[in-house]
Amino acid sequence: MSLILQQAVSLKSCNAFGVDARAAWFARIRDPSELQQLRDDPRLRALPWYILGAGSNTLFAGDFPGLVVNVGVAGIAEAGARDGARLLRVGASESWPALVESLVRGGRPGLENLALIPGSVGAAVVQNIGAYGLELAERLHSVEVWEAATGKVRTLGVEECGLGYRDSIFKRAAGGIRVILQVTLRLPIQWQPLMGYAELARELAALAHPAPIDVFHAVCALRRRKLPDPAQLGNVGSFFKNPIVSRGQHQELLTRHPSLVSYPMAGGRFKLAAGWLIEACGLRGVVRGAAGVYERQALVLVNHGGASGREILALAREVQETVAARFGVHLEPEAVIV
Ligand code: NAP
Repeated sequence: MSLILQQAVSLKSCNAFGVDARAAWFARIRDPSELQQLRDDPRLRALPWYILGAGSNTLFAGDFPGLVVNVGVAGIAEAGARDGARLLRVGASESWPALVESLVRGGRPGLENLALIPGSVGAAVVQNIGAYGLELAERLHSVEVWEAATGKVRTLGVEECGLGYRDSIFKRAAGGIRVILQVTLRLPIQWQPLMGYAELARELAALAHPAPIDVFHAVCALRRRKLPDPAQLGNVGSFFKNPIVSRGQHQELLTRHPSLVSYPMAGGRFKLAAGWLIEACGLRGVVRGAAGVYERQALVLVNHGGASGREILALAREVQETVAARFGVHLEPEAVIV
């Protein structure tokens, strides 16, 4: 098979916002030798690269003047067991929500709190996805990455991935271009439900001993109620991260706004619910041109049809400025803006 490299490609069908940006160059790669070919191509040498999975967390604010690399590495295989967990090696382009569902239904639970999160398995690592009290970091063993600096594939243990709150080394430019090809997950052999989030506990309240499939259905039901389906309404899930503030700032905010929604964190800091801050500014459901703040969950920005990346970005900036003016808190985007 020869490398598929194209010029002036529309990215409309490759991003969950459905914005019609163009990439100067676009390649779909299936193995490291194709990445090598791209690295050695003199036409591409001076250009920036952007690694794209399913486009579920990317806002293309305009055309991309460089090379978009779309990873097409599939496959799911057992990889033994270690430290009370079974290991599973998964190609980076496998669908995350399909993987979670097939594992739960196939009797290999452990990811069900992360059900229905759109995107690819590789992107799940980039973003260190999290929901309902579980972060991917807790279920990740290692990743195999191709590094442009050396042209080699290297295995990084979970501790080398720099995973933080919706963050990893793969979101940062330092260290050069890295392409995730394979992800090895660790699934607990002794399964226990994780029901620390009040909404999830409420959804499962009728069951004395919920099974993995019950947790899976509960998470799916909660998400479907609150979140728009990107196939119907362009969106990338939460657009902003929940801000973390000091104890002093938290106390001050609570005095001024007694209904503030917040959660204590390790180290005496507090996490604020960004959705609550946006809603308190009266921005839930606002529409600017074809871009909007979703009416059922203010943390989600949506494309009502035909919005440009620039329009969505302008709305994101309006949200940031309004929240900063009212609460003195900066909302950092969770989505990657290109
Ligand atoms: P929610 O239940 O309305 O809660 C608002 C925020 O409070 C959440 O963002 C969550 O933070 C935090 N929270 C709730 N219960 C908590 C607890 N027991 N301990 C610590 N923090 C708590 O939130 P939601 O919007 O419906 O989302 C529910 C879950 O799905 C959250 O975990 C959220 O992160 C996840 N989710 C993620 C995306 C995405 O695109 N990344 C989209 C939708 C939902 P955390 O976000 O830190 O968990």
